[in-house]
Amino acid sequence: MSYPILPYGRQYIDADDIEAVSATLRGDFLTQGPGVGAFEQALCEATGSPFATVVANGTAALHLANLALGVTAGSIGLTTPITFVATANSMRYAGASVALCDVDSETGLMTPDTVSSALEELETAGRLPTVLSPVDLGGLPVALPALRKIARQRGIKILHDAAHSLGATFTHEGGKYIVGDGSFADATTLSFHPVKHITCGEGGAILTPSPEVHQLLVDLRSHGIHRRPADMSRAADDPFVGGWYYEQATLGYNYRLPDINCALGLSQLKKLSGFIERRRRLARQYDEAFAEDSLAEFFTPVPQPSDRNSSYHLYIIRLRSRRDESQRDLAGRRKALYEFLHHHGIRAQVHYIPLHFHPDFEGRCWMPRGGLPGAEAFYASCLSLPLFPAMEGSDVERVVDSLRTYASSPMR
Ligand SMILES: *Cc1c(COP(=O)(O)O)cnc(C)c1O
Repeated sequence: MSYPILPYGRQYIDADDIEAVSATLRGDFLTQGPGVGAFEQALCEATGSPFATVVANGTAALHLANLALGVTAGSIGLTTPITFVATANSMRYAGASVALCDVDSETGLMTPDTVSSALEELETAGRLPTVLSPVDLGGLPVALPALRKIARQRGIKILHDAAHSLGATFTHEGGKYIVGDGSFADATTLSFHPVKHITCGEGGAILTPSPEVHQLLVDLRSHGIHRRPADMSRAADDPFVGGWYYEQATLGYNYRLPDINCALGLSQLKKLSGFIERRRRLARQYDEAFAEDSLAEFFTPVPQPSDRNSSYHLYIIRLRSRRDESQRDLAGRRKALYEFLHHHGIRAQVHYIPLHFHPDFEGRCWMPRGGLPGAEAFYASCLSLPLFPAMEGSDVERVVDSLRTYASSPMR
């Protein structure tokens, strides 16, 4: 028997998106045209960020953000092990070494406590990081105001990886903030990969409140080349200088985002609030199911602190561990559940394999003396259930029914 496939996430493309891309293809500019600025302007309006720079993908956004915040050879970047490899790889591209900070075992997020304790240890060793990169796993914002305060005391910059949390909000001391608005981060990066909130096919962006950081990013995404007369090393009346002239002032990259992709991103952004509303509604439906005793005994959704409003890139549940159960046995039950769901066409996923599990990170990154027990407990028990705007309530019901079947079967 074969079952229809339900992925954990997928894009939503409508006729307006297709028309926006077609119009660009019929127009004058496939890249570096007016679509770039239009998309950037719309991102600023959606997030409240003073500046936005769109780039080829979310990884390029992280790479340039690290460079623009001063990460360089010999620097240290502190991040979470529960993230996609790109968060840490981008630090390595800039020449930094990676330090890993533990996370809360229930949310998978860095906390003020885990960050403080990692920084105390690093400070004692004389190895303070240049940058702290928290990740809003699944769309749930980290406690950014508190992390910012801890980082500021030591002159550390905040590079917020918000690949999951476009559109999420939080409150702090009576104020309401939007992820990426620049209130508590020096730079915030976004990804427009098809599984994320909005897509460009591939694409990414860096949001920043700093005009200097923004200018650096603009230069870095296009070979480090600029055409600003005021910044030229030669005088304008020099015969070797003219209308054709440009200068490479720093080593940059070709990380530009084509107008074709910007047109899709701009069209998608118009639907963002509807997408998030839909994701939140489906998440509520999952929440109600996990509140039932028959499921609550086995599973628990990631807790949602009341000062934050997730944009639900993912709906993550954890298997409850049994009394005296080893982590290995718990992981074995999660694996069995994953296989059971996949057998029934439900493509649940694990977010994420901790960075230090990868051979290319093992032995290459700093870890706290006490290890990363929160991250390992989270990894042993987490599972992301299907969640995307085109999903129907009946799809959620199908996932929940499969979990009920699993929970009542002898193999659980
Ligand atoms: C998707 C993602 C990235 C990288 O984005 P790409 O656009 O795929 O390069 C970085 N960090 C996190 C947490 C992500 O989920």
